[in-house]
Parts: sequence; structure tokens; C-alpha cells
Amino acid sequence: MLKKILYTIWLFLFILTVLVSVKNTNFKTFISMIENRTFDLRQNVMIKERSKAVSDKIVIVAIDDATYEYILDRYGEWPLPRDVYVRLVDYIEKQNPQSIAFDLMFVKSMKSNPNADKMLVDMMKKYDNVFVSMNLDDQSPDLRTPPELPDTISIKIDNKSSNVNFDAQTYTNCRTIIEDILKNSSNIGMINVTRADDGILRKMPALVKYQDKFYPQLGLKVGMDYLNLKTDKLEIDTNSNLILGDRKIYLDEDGSAILNWYGPQETYEYIPMFKLIQVVNGKHSVQGFDFKDKIVYFGTTASSLFDIKTVPSSKIYPGVEVQATYVNNIIDNNFIRRLDKSFTVFFGVLLAIITICIVMNEGSAFVGSLAAFSVYLLYVFAAYYAMKYFNLWIDIIYPLLLAIVTFISAYIVKYLIKSRDFEQQYVLATTDGLTDLYNHRYFQEQMRMMIEASKRYETSFSLIILDIDFFKKFNDTFGHQAGDAVLRQVAQTLKKNIRSTDIACRYGGEEMSIILPKTDHEIAIFTANKICARVSSKQFKLPNGRETSVTISLGVSTFPVDGTTPEELIEAADKRLYHAKHNGRNQVGV
Ligand code: GH3
Ligand code: MG
Ligand code: MG
Repeated sequence: MLKKILYTIWLFLFILTVLVSVKNTNFKTFISMIENRTFDLRQNVMIKERSKAVSDKIVIVAIDDATYEYILDRYGEWPLPRDVYVRLVDYIEKQNPQSIAFDLMFVKSMKSNPNADKMLVDMMKKYDNVFVSMNLDDQSPDLRTPPELPDTISIKIDNKSSNVNFDAQTYTNCRTIIEDILKNSSNIGMINVTRADDGILRKMPALVKYQDKFYPQLGLKVGMDYLNLKTDKLEIDTNSNLILGDRKIYLDEDGSAILNWYGPQETYEYIPMFKLIQVVNGKHSVQGFDFKDKIVYFGTTASSLFDIKTVPSSKIYPGVEVQATYVNNIIDNNFIRRLDKSFTVFFGVLLAIITICIVMNEGSAFVGSLAAFSVYLLYVFAAYYAMKYFNLWIDIIYPLLLAIVTFISAYIVKYLIKSRDFEQQYVLATTDGLTDLYNHRYFQEQMRMMIEASKRYETSFSLIILDIDFFKKFNDTFGHQAGDAVLRQVAQTLKKNIRSTDIACRYGGEEMSIILPKTDHEIAIFTANKICARVSSKQFKLPNGRETSVTISLGVSTFPVDGTTPEELIEAADKRLYHAKHNGRNQVGV
């Protein structure tokens, strides 16, 4: 019965924990932050194991620290006059690259060199595989009136997923780039990023939203060009996949694609831009570069130009490499898919059930713990390999937390039940089955303890021994069953007529004893007389429904006057009991 109650309470608490943890936002944020760190750990182990290789199709032309110095030295200012980029693009285009993408924003016209801007616009018109970037933001409309963007750079989205919504990717303003580029080219991608609560960039929006229209990520545009996908409408299916031809990119609930990372810094083929400028300027001492069929990304890596992100694989990672990773994920079709929340809860409950089975069935706590934690470790490994081989992000923290909470509570419940069993066994070991009084062994134990305590505190205590009169005859007349019934009722009468601190025991047969702590002889005699009178005046019910009366004889002894050992005290009480029998029974002997 108690076990059932405990199980029920515990099950209730368990379900409550599950519900609270699923519903509470703060708790969820906390858990998801730790979960994210396990994602980083998995990614970093994969990188160390070199289980993913970067695509040799991607080349980064980096405006690194050396290039920045070179630019200041040669051109005297940053940003670089745009005609320099045009000459670099012309050079690269001669080798037939797949595409050229600028992770740089050509914001307003440079007044110092308006002609260079015009060259840039002409370049965009001339090559249909050159991509430039833009950024949405939430700048106040007082500061900058939100501009209209041309339809040509937006994309239509058919979102069939109930899980994906773009609220977090919706912006109220943007900084436009050179107007003629906006007007004349559709090769413009957004470079907005998604950061988690801990500031780490693990995923990138596939699309961002502005004035009710969707704009694709630069990486998505470059990837679509690589896949030769020419469409102005994309579909997100019911399973949260962005459909790219025969490929599917899983989108997280905020419309972001979770990136699979390839390495810390300089993962990609990397060309400092100043070297390219030197080649283009005809400096023959510098070796040429191969751009055939490559996807060429221009971006800043110089610390003074500040486009540094924190990503799972590195604390300082240039934005352009984040872009490259995005495109690489499209090429390798290996974006991370995060398993649905219902799976997470399912795995948690599964681990919890396995835990309960182990704890309840395994006798040894050591073996039980070992077994449970082996299962948890197995789960962690499974989660790691799922990411390594299937690009699957299976949540670790929530299921493990649930399992460990279950583990602890299961052991608590188990020991509660055990201690309860122990109590029951103790009761069984100290009470008499027939009368419910304490048994002889307990009586002897209490006598010893009472003597010790009375000696130490110099107090007295008394002992009453009683015996039912003519009980043999009673048994012979009414039967043993009736004798037992009377024994039980006499015991009840005893219990009712003594203090709660007094200890009533079955001494043996139809003899009973009562220990009366801190009670002198007089009061003990008084109590004995009271009990004697109560028993003799009581009608005892027999199993056949009839009633009868019995009497008892009693003897009283008191510590320390009648003795200072159990034996002496029992003997003294026995002697007086004998006197009572001898004097006609139904009385207290003196
Ligand atoms: P008296 O004490 O008045 O001298 O006579 P008595 O007949 O009671 O004598 P004694 O105390 O020696 O008798 C013990 C009897 O008590 C023996 C047995 O028949 C009965 N008896 C002892 N234990 C039990 C028991 O557990 N159940 C029943 N029904 N009878 C018991
Ligand atoms: Mg007897
Ligand atoms: Mg008797």
C-alpha cells in the first residue's frame, strides 16, 4: 500500500517536472544554452577527427591585416577605391570562375572617386555571376527612412511548415547599397546573422524579412547559383526543409540553417588580397592563382576592419568564412538537422524508463549506477555519431537531465521502501503476534535499559507481573480459541489502563508484564489494583458470541528496593504473584 502511494507521488512529481521543464522559459533558455555547448563540443571533436573536409571549390580573397596595411600605403585610405575591385573581378572572370561574391557592402557612393562606383555598376551589369551583399537592421525610422527595395532582389516563399516562422528574422529598416546596383542587379544577398543567447553564431538565416518580403542570404544566393537553380520562389515543406532542387536544407524554428563547421581559422584556400592586386598589376614575382570553376569570396579578416564572429569552432572567426561555410554546406548538402522537440522528450522518457528498470531490478547500488551511467554514456556516443554520420543534432542535455533526476528519485524511493521494510521488520521482531503487546525479548531488553537509566538518574521504576486465574480450566471448558480471544482482550484492557510511557509485554503463556518508568511502589500497587478490578468487572466476548468473565492475579516489585537486576525484580514480583494466587486469586499479592 505504502509502496503504491510512494510510486504515485513520485510519478506525479516526475510528470510535473517534465511539464514544468517543457513550459518554463527561463529553464528552457538555461537548458538550451548548455545544449548548444554540447553542439560545439561535438563539432569540435568532429573537426579534430577531420571527419569533414572543406570543398576545394571555395577560395577566399581576404582583406587581411597585411592587405589593410598595403591599401593604406598604396591608396592612402579605406575603403578601397572600387575600381580596384573591378580590375580584380575582370582578372578572375578571365579564368571562368563559378561565381564571385562580396561579403562587403558597397554602401553609399564614394565622393572622392565617383567614376570608380560607375565602373562597379557596369561590372555588375557585365557579369551575371558576381554577387554583392546588403544588411537589414532595426535602425530608428527618424534616423533613416526605411527605403523601398526593388522586387528583383526579393524572393517568394511558400512556407508549409508550422514550425518555422520568421519573426526573429524580421527587420524594420535597412541600409541600402549604391542605388544603381540595386536597380540593375538581382545578385544581392543579405548577410544578417543569427546569434544564440550566449552570443555564439551557430546558425545563419536562410531568409530575412523586410516590409513583408523575403530576401535570401548571400550564401543561399551563391549556393543556388552553384546548383544552377533559377527560381523566384522557394518552398519550405511541412518537415521544415527549404527545398533547393533535389536538396533539402533543414530550417530551425526561426528560419535559420544550422551550420556544420569545418575548422577553426583559415579553413579555406586563402589568398591575401594584396597579392592578387600585385598579380593584377603585373608584378610577376608573385605566383598566379587558379580561379577556374571556383567560388571566390571577398571579405575582411583584418582585425582593424572588425567583422569577427564567435562560432562553435573558434572564438574569432571572420564573417567571410561563415559565408564560405554556408556555401560549403550547400555544396556538401550537410547542414545540420535538429531533431524535433517531441523526439527529445521521447528520448528523455525512454532513458527515464530504462533508469527505473535498472534501479528497481538491480540489488547492488554500485552495479545499478554503473549500468545506468553506461546507458547514458551510450546515448551521448549515439548522439555524437548521429551528428558525425547523419548530420543530426540529437539533444543531449534535456534527456540526460531527465534521466539523472529519475535516477536520483528512483534511488530515493527505493531506499524509502527499504527503510519502511526495515521498520516493519523491527515491529515484527518486537511484538507478540497474538496480543499485539511487546514480546519477551523486548521486555528483557527494556528491563536492562530501565535499570541502567534508573541507576544513572537515581529514579525508581516498577514492574507488574500478572497471570490469568484458572486458565487451564478455562481452555478446557471453552476451548483454546476462546482462550486466545480472552488473552487478546485482557491485553487490550491492560493497554487501556496504563500510561503511554508504560511498557506492556507478553511475558509468556497467559502471563503478562508491565514496566512502569519513574513509578514508585505505591503507585504501582494502585495501578495493579486498578487493572485487577477492570479485568474482573469486564465481560469478555467469546467466539461463539457468549460472554464470560475472568480474573487475574498480580505481583508488583520496585527498583531499587526489591532488587537491582532484572532477575531479582522478576523474582520479587513473581513471589508476590504467588502470594496472590495462594490468598485466593483476583488480587494484587503482597
Ligand atoms: P492459575 O494460574 O490460576 O494457578 O491456574 P492456571 O490454570 O492458569 O495455571 P497456569 O498459569 O499454570 O496455566 C497456564 C495455562 O495457560 C496453560 C495453557 O492452557 C494456558 N495458556 C498458555 N498460553 C496460552 C495461549 O497462548 N493460548 C491459550 N488459549 N491458552 C494458553
Ligand atoms: Mg501461568
Ligand atoms: Mg494462570
